[in-house]
Amino acid sequence: MKKITAFLLLCFGIQTAFAQLTPFELHKDKNYTATYAEVISYYQKLVKGKDQVKLINYGMTDIGKPLTLIVLSRDKVFNPEQIKKQHKTVVLINNGIHPGEPEGIDASMMLVRDMLKKNSLPKNLVICMVAVYNIDGCMNRGLSRITQNGPEAYGFRGNYRNLDLNRDFIKADSRNALAFMQILNTWQPQVFVDNHTSDGADYQYVMTLIETQKDKQNPILAKYTSNTLSPELYKRMKKSGYEMTPYVESMRGGSLDSGIVGYLETPRYSTGYTVQHNIISYVTETHMLKPFAPRVYATYDFMQNLFDICERDAALIRNLQHDADEQVKQQKTFALNWRLDPTTFDTITFKGFAAAHKPSEVSGLPRLYYDRSKPYTHTIRYYNNYVVSATADKPVAYVIPQAWSKVIELFKLNKVAMKQLSHDTTLNLQMYYIGDMRTPTRPYEGHYLHSNVQLKPTDMPIKFYAGDYVVYTNQAINRYIVETLEPQGVDSFFAWNFFDSMLTEKEHFSDYVFEDIAADLLKKDPELKKKMDEQSAKDPNFIKSANAQLEFIYQNSPYHEKEGNRYPVGRLMTDVKLDLR
Ligand SMILES: [Zn+2]
Repeated sequence: MKKITAFLLLCFGIQTAFAQLTPFELHKDKNYTATYAEVISYYQKLVKGKDQVKLINYGMTDIGKPLTLIVLSRDKVFNPEQIKKQHKTVVLINNGIHPGEPEGIDASMMLVRDMLKKNSLPKNLVICMVAVYNIDGCMNRGLSRITQNGPEAYGFRGNYRNLDLNRDFIKADSRNALAFMQILNTWQPQVFVDNHTSDGADYQYVMTLIETQKDKQNPILAKYTSNTLSPELYKRMKKSGYEMTPYVESMRGGSLDSGIVGYLETPRYSTGYTVQHNIISYVTETHMLKPFAPRVYATYDFMQNLFDICERDAALIRNLQHDADEQVKQQKTFALNWRLDPTTFDTITFKGFAAAHKPSEVSGLPRLYYDRSKPYTHTIRYYNNYVVSATADKPVAYVIPQAWSKVIELFKLNKVAMKQLSHDTTLNLQMYYIGDMRTPTRPYEGHYLHSNVQLKPTDMPIKFYAGDYVVYTNQAINRYIVETLEPQGVDSFFAWNFFDSMLTEKEHFSDYVFEDIAADLLKKDPELKKKMDEQSAKDPNFIKSANAQLEFIYQNSPYHEKEGNRYPVGRLMTDVKLDLR
């Protein structure tokens, strides 16, 4: 009897251990990433009967399946408010935003299991992991990254709407982005990681790293990440056997010997969006030409090393975020765009492979290749200094007509504090008229992204209605507010076409009728006559064009419609008392 029990126990033990191996581990050559169904069923089995882990579904994605978040809490507390009160630091991991880059999906499955099995959940952290972000793309499985070295099949970059979800964090066209915002603003992490795979040049590293660009990051956080957290991650990863280098993008597309450039992840990217929330953020980029298994293990080690440092520095990280939040509440001027300073650089040690050219078998023309038999270690330039190229001074408050409901929806999701006007009223505000700008002729991610936007600020009375929104700029989330609402922001709502209906005039005039009105205006308004004469003297074509002259008079007349090209969000410049609810 005893023997039978022992045998059964052994079988059960083996079966449990076997069931806990991930699909990646179960494949002999480890060149396999789990399917979406395998990921979810793995976690469902893994969490059964365990009280330190929970699976929580958020929102909906474009394919009609919710985002699954794995939450690990040593104290078995899963209420975000209570976690905040306990002064725990929250780390959020995102996986599979580009499903063809799935290392994070498989590494996270192993890491969650191992932390539970070893009873090694950190005391001071709560860890949240998105199982698969781009579920839609993950289910569209095939071989879409033809120059990548495995796994044997994987998901597609675009989601169900063919959007690149890692450009969607401001415009939020996908329901995936809305669900992610719900997760981020519910759990309010201090640290965030987005796991990826990179392409480009060949070199010796399995993993490269994008840190939040330091000149874009809040200076209080940048000091800690640049001096402590990032150097320590590099050191620990080297010790783990996966030495890292900063993400490799060559200077002006030249050879790596001409230097590499720090990556500027503007707010459309996950880490450009999280930085607006004062969250310390990293993007891991394993290298596509290395076999899949070491890429997965490097991602596993990165997360483990990060958890270890965050566990040690948990209180410090929380305090730094608090200080950054306080600083940003008081901040007056905000950067809206940045450009690389090509005149200053640091130097780094870089382990590459010799690049050379040989005749192409396809075209007969010279083609680039990297010679892995010729590894080198060079000192190269690292250009990672960005300067601010556009700024805005914040107003006391922004006034947003309720008609712009998508802005209101996004602000609510991002926990922006808003008040509403209690009755119809006219406010004296600074309004922007939109002047020149650049707009491409082909769409990018479903939009015609505006850039180089010129503004003419004008003080004027504007009618608002009961229920319109007032957003004061004394908030920890100020960066998100200002960077999205100022039209010159590189990823502002204006840039992403939220307000394009304001860019056309609606009524105009019938020229033959306006002739008489225009003549009358000229007679009665000597100022206007003077302006006309000046224009005629300046521009020889002007005097030859009847239309141009009528248009000039119209534009300078009281009949010219004030709404056309006027940005509808107003800036309250003095702290007058408003009737709010
Ligand atoms: Zn990617």
